[in-house]
Amino acid sequence: KLSAGEYGPEQPGRVMAHFGRTLEVRDADGTPIRCHLRANLDGLVTGDRVIWRAGQDGSGVVVAREERDSILKRPDPRGQLKPVAANIDQLLIVFAVEPAPHPNLIDRYLVAAEATGIAPVLVLNKTDLLPDDGGELGQLLERYHQLGYPVVRTTTANPEGLDKLRQQLAGRTSVFVGQSGVGKSSLIDLLLPDETLRIGALSEDSRKGTHTTTTARLYAMRSDEVSNGELIDSPGIREFGLIHLDEQEVTDGFIEFHPYLGLCRFRDCRHRNEPGCALLDAVEAGKIHPERFASYRRILDSLNSQ
Ligand code: GDP
Ligand code: ZN
Repeated sequence: KLSAGEYGPEQPGRVMAHFGRTLEVRDADGTPIRCHLRANLDGLVTGDRVIWRAGQDGSGVVVAREERDSILKRPDPRGQLKPVAANIDQLLIVFAVEPAPHPNLIDRYLVAAEATGIAPVLVLNKTDLLPDDGGELGQLLERYHQLGYPVVRTTTANPEGLDKLRQQLAGRTSVFVGQSGVGKSSLIDLLLPDETLRIGALSEDSRKGTHTTTTARLYAMRSDEVSNGELIDSPGIREFGLIHLDEQEVTDGFIEFHPYLGLCRFRDCRHRNEPGCALLDAVEAGKIHPERFASYRRILDSLNSQ
């Protein structure tokens, strides 16, 4: 038993949610513990790996944050980018047979994902609505698969519809992003069926206060099908998209362009109509798909008109 002002040994934990300077930290066994931040610590986000010590009243104190593998940022109301979640292994970009995605939209998501350094996975939902031959969407997906992106098909219309997705989620920390109406909520409801687990002890009382927060929450998926998969979710995260990217980031976001970058005749080539442009030559030679290149142009143009 700890006496007043005394703390237990240092232990590892992970931030499941945060409400100002109060955190919900999960210990190594998965038990949630309400923790406060040591005064010199600040700016922790959901998903952070931390070191904490137990206090005498069952709550704890977080004393350190571990190095982050990755960080997802969102603009705050003043337009400044703020970290919202950390240590994410993969961004699941959900799109659907209906409403069908414009190919440019998939490219926009991929560019934004590449800029975060978090591995993107394309999830095609509502495959129950797909024609038997796979349709145009099937061909489109094959193109992304050939670029090296994992593609997972899902449907919430039958019990096996999430099998492949569950395999993709196992052992990793994931977030779902995508347009409204593609089925993100439906998928997440099936992956996290236990409402009590989803709401959590801390948010229970925060809901009464001013902290009724849209901050991200981490959910553990400990079923047999998804061993040790974790999900970080919030309304804001689901809206993740193309924001605050510069021209270089957009160019870097098209992974099949990489072998040709730096090979243009002019060092400051903008790949528009310059002679000796390695990218234009690659399109001409059939090494880069013309639609991806057109998409690249369109994204650049949309940046310039902002
Ligand atoms: P969100 O906006 O991305 O969270 O999308 P929702 O989960 O709210 O889903 C939008 C609509 O698509 C709802 O009417 C769902 O019932 C429906 N929906 C979701 N998944 C599927 C699916 O696999 N097949 C079909 N046919 N409809 C789906
Ligand atoms: Zn060029």
